Order: sequence, then structure tokens, then C-alpha cells
Amino acid sequence: MLKYMLRTFIVFLVSYAHAGYNFYNIAPVPYQLDQVSFSNGSLQLTKNGEVKRGQGLFQALRDVGIENVQALEIINALRDEVEFSKLKVGDKLEAGFDTAHRLVSFSFSQNPAEKHILSLDPITHQWLYKFKEEHTHWYSRIIEGEIKQGETLQGTLLKQGFAPDVVNNIVSALTCKVNFRMNARVGDKFRALIKERFFNEQIIATKVLYTSYEGSRAGSHETFMYEDAEKGSTYNAHYTEDGQALIRAGLRYPLSRLHVRSNYGMRRHPVTGRRVMHRGVDLRGRTGTPVHAVASGKVVLATYNKYAGNKIAIRHRDGSTSYYFHLNKRKVRRGDYVRSYQVIGTVGSTGRVTGPHLHFGFKKPNGRWMNPLNKRMIATPKLTGERFIKLQEQIAQIKQKMIDLDISKNSNYLLAQIPNLPVAKPIKFYDIERLIASVTPEESTL
Ligand SMILES: [Zn+2]
Repeated sequence: MLKYMLRTFIVFLVSYAHAGYNFYNIAPVPYQLDQVSFSNGSLQLTKNGEVKRGQGLFQALRDVGIENVQALEIINALRDEVEFSKLKVGDKLEAGFDTAHRLVSFSFSQNPAEKHILSLDPITHQWLYKFKEEHTHWYSRIIEGEIKQGETLQGTLLKQGFAPDVVNNIVSALTCKVNFRMNARVGDKFRALIKERFFNEQIIATKVLYTSYEGSRAGSHETFMYEDAEKGSTYNAHYTEDGQALIRAGLRYPLSRLHVRSNYGMRRHPVTGRRVMHRGVDLRGRTGTPVHAVASGKVVLATYNKYAGNKIAIRHRDGSTSYYFHLNKRKVRRGDYVRSYQVIGTVGSTGRVTGPHLHFGFKKPNGRWMNPLNKRMIATPKLTGERFIKLQEQIAQIKQKMIDLDISKNSNYLLAQIPNLPVAKPIKFYDIERLIASVTPEESTL
């Protein structure tokens, strides 16, 4: 175990030391201290920071006064707990130093209710990890409306004050079924069930559980959110009631510039000189150029061998697998889930090669190699077996939740219409929704 940790640390160290960050030449940025406090009887100095636009993790760590060697330690200690690939602007960092300016504690937080905390054990000098989560509540509510003259679904929702990513979730769930550009009409009706996570009266996360759209040209469509038991699973998505996935999954290219150096098929091997089948394409690229996952999936292979060099394979949701060989660096590990176009490594010349390039291969779900440049879409299979059964359970819960919300909404309206009921002031629509939400605190399964 220790050996494994040490090895991953060294691999990591080496990979970052060459990553072009130019570590050793930059003097540490002078930082100001935000707080001084006593902890365990000794003085501790705290520096707060947050991830700024265009910043990587290293720059953010540097901004709170953490130097590179320690930054690597911190990243290594947190990488099983935090998805650094989902780093976003505004994520909070906090570094604690002792009076000798040694880093003794660190915390990272992607929303106000959750904190990943590391503290340095003074005896073993190991980083100890703790996860601190504040008490939060999930509340559900229904969004509904009609498309008005000169408006789009997206525009309507944005005007109602929903966050762009929530709007995007709703629209993209429906996009597979509704051709908005051609078939949206004034008077079309939409509905969505969303679940919002509250902490201190603030919404810190939103899930879109259901969407529907009904129009004269567009027809009627419903989508249901499915959540897999496995966290971060590529199955997490919107589906139709019969289990058809609603994901747009066009393939991306692994390099931002595509120049085929050697095509798929029979060829004379550049190193051995023998005529062999080339089971992929060689793409031109300089050492260090980022290599992207062509679609989302699970990393099923991230290793080194003397022919393929550093190689990564990603299994996609339709059962096909993409392969990336001769990498200079691997930036993901086996078992990781990757998003489409996530950087998974860099171009290199490891293994049996004549120079730096990316060998990009593709296997069909049946295990046969194919020309990766002929693969344009990841087929979105229907959910089957246990997953389909779970989807049906979740759909039943979603429907019940909407019935409950409709009933409490109607009874509220009835209540408001009773003539002798003293009404202090008109209740705003959103307040009514909140009122409804507050009587139906959420079960965590949805
Ligand atoms: Zn090749």
C-alpha cells in the first residue's frame, strides 16, 4: 500500500515537474495573512483564497502561499476525495501556517456546505483527511410555463431567474426529442421538476429530475432523470420512460488539431519494417500537447508497456473502447470517470516509436478493432436489467412527487380563495412554491 502510494506520488511529481509550469524559476508569491488564531496552544496563520477565472489548481494553491512541493502533497492527499477535474471559479481554499511558515492545515470547498480538510499530524508528518458537511435540505418544486411570442424555452427560463447551468440541463434533456429551432411554437407548454439543495437560505445545488414539453408541432415529450448507484456514473442522465437515453454524444477528436500521419489498415511498420495491420491512426502532435477523451466513459486501462508506452483506454457507454498510446503523461487513473473532451494525458513518444505522436485506436463493443475516424457517435443504449428496474422506481417517485406538489399547490390556492381568511399581503409566486416545498422535505433517494 505504502509502496503504491509512494509510486503514485513519484509518478505525479515527475509528471508535474515536466508539465511546463516552470516551477523552479518562480519565487513564491508573497501573500498576506487573513486571520491569526490559536490552535492547540500555538499560533496559526490562515490565508484564504478562491479559484479565479482561467486559473489551474497550482496557481490557486500558490495564491494562498503554498509552494510546489507541498502543493503536490496536498493534491495527492485529496485526489481520491475531490474531483479536481471539476474545479470551478469560486471554489474556496484555506491554508493554515505555523509561525515558522510551515503549512499545517488546508481546506478545499466547492460549496458553502462542504469542506475537505487536511491537517498535518505533528508526529507522523502525514496529512490527515476529514470531510465536514453542514446540515442542508433538498426541496422540490415545479417549474412550468408557456412559450410566448418572440421567446425561446431557454430565454424564458433565464428570464425567470434560473441559473444558466440549470436552464442548460432542462433544455439539453429535451433537445434529443424536440427540434426547438424548427418546431417550437408560441403557446407550447413546458414543465420541469427540480430539486434544490439549501444551505443558509442559499441554493448550493440543483438537480433537474423531470422535464416535459408539449407543442402543436413538437408533440409531447417527457424525460426522467436516472441516478445510478455508482457516484459519477456515465449512466446518470435523462431517459424516456421506456429507458431510452437522451444524451447527445457526438465524438470529439483527441487532439485539437487533426493531422493523420499514418492511417488505419495494412502498412509497413515504421520500426520493424514488417507488413502488419495498423489498428488505429497515428496523429501528429508535439510532446506535451493535451490529449482529450473523445467521449465520456470509464478509464479501464492506464498503464505502461514497452510497445504502446504510456497507454490509456476508455470504455464508453455503448460498450466501445477508445485507446490512446505513446503518451508522455497519463493524467487519469484506472477506474476514473472522464467527461467528453477532458484532458487525459499528453502526446509523447513512449514505447516503440520513431517520434512523438498519438496512436488513437477504437474497439467496437464486440471487441473488434475499427478505424476510429469512422466512428462518429456513441450509440446511446436503452437501460436494461437492474438499471431499467431502478429507472422505473425512480420514475414512479418523480411522478408521485409531482402529484404531491400539485395537490399542495391547489390546496394553497383554495385556501387563498376562502373569503374571510385574513390575508396580510399578497404572496409572491415563488413564496408559494417555497411554502409548498417546505411541507415536503425530501427523501434522499430521488
Ligand atoms: Zn500507430
